[in-house]
Amino acid sequence: LDEVRREDPEVASEIESEIARQNSHIELIASENWVSHAVMAAMGSPLTNKYAEGYPGHRFYGGCECVDVIEDIARERAKQLFGCTYANVQPHSGAQANMAVEFALLKPGDTLMGMNLSEGGHLTHGSPANFSGAYFHVVPYGVNADGYIDYDEVERIAEESKPKLIIAGASAYPRIIDFQRFAEIAHRVGAYLMVDIAHIAGLVATGLHPSPFPYADVVTTTTHKTLRGPRGGLILSSEEFAKKHKLNKAVFPGIQGGPLEHVIAAKAVCFKEALQPDFKVYCSQVVKNAKALADGLTKRGIRLVSGGTDNHLMLVDLTNTGKTGKEVETALDAVGITANKNTIPNDPQSPFITSGLRLGTPAATTRGLKEADFDVVADVIAKTILEGDAQAEACRKLVKALTARYPLS
Ligand code: PLP
Repeated sequence: LDEVRREDPEVASEIESEIARQNSHIELIASENWVSHAVMAAMGSPLTNKYAEGYPGHRFYGGCECVDVIEDIARERAKQLFGCTYANVQPHSGAQANMAVEFALLKPGDTLMGMNLSEGGHLTHGSPANFSGAYFHVVPYGVNADGYIDYDEVERIAEESKPKLIIAGASAYPRIIDFQRFAEIAHRVGAYLMVDIAHIAGLVATGLHPSPFPYADVVTTTTHKTLRGPRGGLILSSEEFAKKHKLNKAVFPGIQGGPLEHVIAAKAVCFKEALQPDFKVYCSQVVKNAKALADGLTKRGIRLVSGGTDNHLMLVDLTNTGKTGKEVETALDAVGITANKNTIPNDPQSPFITSGLRLGTPAATTRGLKEADFDVVADVIAKTILEGDAQAEACRKLVKALTARYPLS
């Protein structure tokens, strides 16, 4: 940071403010995390200077001998981590990974079945606001009145609409997903199954959520959520499926140019970290903390969609509290907790207002918080929702004590 400060004090000052913000707040955005210094250093390395269009051994530029080795290491570790025979580490983000797979498997106008954005799916699973909704004929599925995926309904819709691709996976679904059932449905109707494990990748890698392999045809993920790596995407499959459907070509030159080799190096470091026994201890704590937070909220009278969580996140249902997601997000920020408003199933409010709040434990678990600390976090959230300003000062003190006890390194 010293060098940025010398060259560009304006930007350095904002980076410093952001570091202070991260230090002084409990981070509960379910898709965020804190990377290790090694991951951060790989991202900030001179690999950012290198152009390397193509793949290891088949590049369109000279001087790729070092990045070839790094990209191969990243691919091998990704395959080992998730137990598959093909990995493409080049997608710049989760959205790019999904775009590459959808363009590889579908033609414009083909039918795509994905989870509704408003019920937990991602934009790239067929939202009208996204390329996936614009290029493909989308048939959405959602959750039942209890907040669980209704597999019988998924099957009924699939049989009726005969999609070419079914996407399982979500951005805001707190329960275990039955990939085997999804595969049975998809393959019975002649569809491919893509599983997007962006949120649960760390839990899948450590066996805390059932793996989509061997059921899925292709799996996509981000590397920066529970996996605790750099911001980026990843495609996993079998060598045979990838070859048949030209998955490499779909990424480059299909939708991307030069790969971000500094980020690929950071992905390699992240995969190595995720292969260590410590990472399983971390992911187990993420899940235990989520249960502690869910229990702490429930016992204080806060309702959760589906009544709880099996993974790293939960959705608070604010409909009977007289507050909106937007209001609670702002009120929590003011006492030092960062979270995001989120639609809940059948939400009467717009996506900008919402009746829900998504809470996740990966980042605060990296910081060191345990179950008892998450009971304090639950107390702060419940007080903020139910009592508002009257408790703001007390809540700020509780958060300050936690952030002081677990400083960021
Ligand atoms: N897939 C899922 C399930 C996600 O939750 C997200 C991001 O939130 C993405 C894909 C997209 O990832 P990115 O933001 O890296 O494009």
